[in-house]
Amino acid sequence: MEPPKLQVPCLSAPMKLVYSDGYDLNLGNHVFPSVKYRLIRDKLLSEGAVKPEDLVEPAAASDEDVALVHHRDYIHKLRTGTLSYVEVLRLEIPYSPELIRAVWLSAGGSILAGRFALQDGASANLGGGFHHAFADHGEGFCVLHDVAIAIRRLQKENTIERAMTVDCDVHHGNGTADIFAADPSVFTLSLHQERNYPYPKPPSTLDVNLEDGTEDDEYLAALEQALDQSLAEFQPDLIFYLAGADPYREDQLGGLKLSLHGLECRDRMVFKKARAKKVPVTVTLAGGYARQLEDTIRIHANTIRVAKEFACA
Ligand SMILES: [Zn+2]
Repeated sequence: MEPPKLQVPCLSAPMKLVYSDGYDLNLGNHVFPSVKYRLIRDKLLSEGAVKPEDLVEPAAASDEDVALVHHRDYIHKLRTGTLSYVEVLRLEIPYSPELIRAVWLSAGGSILAGRFALQDGASANLGGGFHHAFADHGEGFCVLHDVAIAIRRLQKENTIERAMTVDCDVHHGNGTADIFAADPSVFTLSLHQERNYPYPKPPSTLDVNLEDGTEDDEYLAALEQALDQSLAEFQPDLIFYLAGADPYREDQLGGLKLSLHGLECRDRMVFKKARAKKVPVTVTLAGGYARQLEDTIRIHANTIRVAKEFACA
């Protein structure tokens, strides 16, 4: 069956933000501030950028949806708490029932946000972007690959055929690259610091390896070139934008030197290039480990503000 003709409508309805209090991974005093999801929501609401009615609570992904990407035995181990010691170590976050609930919810959130983007031109999951999860294991704070699950689910329900991931987290999208390595229906673009986790870096469709200390102008030039090349080669029905806050110069786990303004220019460039090609965009948040938590919150909130400009622009 032919998928419906996609367009980027300009609707009067405000952009939908998918969010659940259950996104908090309950990590306590960990470098991954998983409390950020709630704080971003609170900031957007208190500043009037978002109204309570714009927020939509997701249902958890079903195990059938998760199995579109992940191996059944890995899902079983997650569900039953039977990961090995080494498998838990590789996650770099403690295993808990709350963690499992959170990652299933985040995957459901990315599916829902993808549907909203097809309807409204832009949308966001105030969570997700777990790009280091592989089909058979998790690592680097990532248990389930919510974006890959969403892409496969939307393909299955025939609302999209082709998707692109634009991954601007400071770390390479190794799980994304591996999951879609042999899948010509998904174009994976990753812009990242070359000398940083993960090692090795399985090849994305297009990888842009950035030097340590890359600043705004150089980054934006590289992003523009990468987006132009990717969107000339491949016409996606939907873009999943992994808007990591960790290319920020004050990030504890990143070695690039983008400013707050540079990161906002990055966001605007992604939306502008997508809009020029009439491609809807869904935001997921991915990483962010600034020394000051307020900076991580502000960077993510800015991304949502930019997305809203394009939802009904
Ligand atoms: Zn990262």
